[in-house]
Amino acid sequence: MEALVLEEKGRISLRPFALPQVTGPRDVRIRVHTVGICGSDIHYYQHGRIGPFVVNEPMVLGHEAAGTVIEVGEEVKHLKAGDRVCMEPGVPDMESRASREGMYNLDPSVRFWATPPVHGCLAPFVVHPAAFTFKLPDNVSFAEGAIVEPLAIGMQAATKAAIRPGDVAVVLGAGTIGMMCALAALAGGCSRAIVCDLVPEKLDLIAGVQGVTAVDIRERRVRDVVSELTGGWGANVVFEASGNEKAFDGIVDLLCPGGCLVLVGMPQKAVPIDVVAVQIKEARIESVFRYANMFERAIQLIASGRIDVKPFISRSFAFADGIKAFEEAASGNPSDVKVQIVME
Ligand code: ZN
Repeated sequence: MEALVLEEKGRISLRPFALPQVTGPRDVRIRVHTVGICGSDIHYYQHGRIGPFVVNEPMVLGHEAAGTVIEVGEEVKHLKAGDRVCMEPGVPDMESRASREGMYNLDPSVRFWATPPVHGCLAPFVVHPAAFTFKLPDNVSFAEGAIVEPLAIGMQAATKAAIRPGDVAVVLGAGTIGMMCALAALAGGCSRAIVCDLVPEKLDLIAGVQGVTAVDIRERRVRDVVSELTGGWGANVVFEASGNEKAFDGIVDLLCPGGCLVLVGMPQKAVPIDVVAVQIKEARIESVFRYANMFERAIQLIASGRIDVKPFISRSFAFADGIKAFEEAASGNPSDVKVQIVME
């Protein structure tokens, strides 16, 4: 079986690779159909590490996947061969303290696809726990199924914000995750999402979503737009999804009294925050690390038509062209949001 392997920083190959294929009693074996390329895959490709996670030996890439079940373990009840599914890439120890306390995404022993030393899913077949494998309704495509993972991050962010109907949200950063935050915030009840970036192609794309006001930060100050649209009150929620330290400059000023700042992007270094400005507004600060219990909800939002992810699936490449797909995705084409690899 061939897999797309990150050999070391800067070098990917498509070559035979043996991934475990034993289907345990609670596992399913899946023929992989579509895999999205994530910012983290590209980061490992370009830098060989993300924070404490270092690629020390060849690692199969990919964690945003959809496919078809071909075999189920004897104890699996909710799936059968032939089911179209998408997979949640992080598998915690369900007996860990974090899992027992309802935060399985924070289990330190979670095994997450394509996070060293755990291999990813850019291979024709994978084995995965059935509990983290979700059936796709007939009207949800494999491509949509493979974008559920980044959408789940937006859903986690929107959930942490505790949005109320009619809230106004600001999203700083219009990368894939920022766009998913905007979609989730609107689906969660926001009347408006003010999405801010400096790449016109991305702003044009997200501006097509009903309820989005796109702001080019080279032309207008975000605080002026927020003030104008909220009668000077401020936004109920600010999602920081750029990871850019500059975004933190004056970020609390965007919030209304009692508002909530949700930290989604990961800055490269520590950033200062104006504590008194936070206190004067009794603002909440929330953060997200991946997601928990979001896949089912994300799939339902796509299936019901409340969220349309199709405009954000930009291009797809055949598995045989997987290396080219990575090079293209890494090149940062401004009109690309999600690049996917189609296996069959
Ligand atoms: Zn991802």
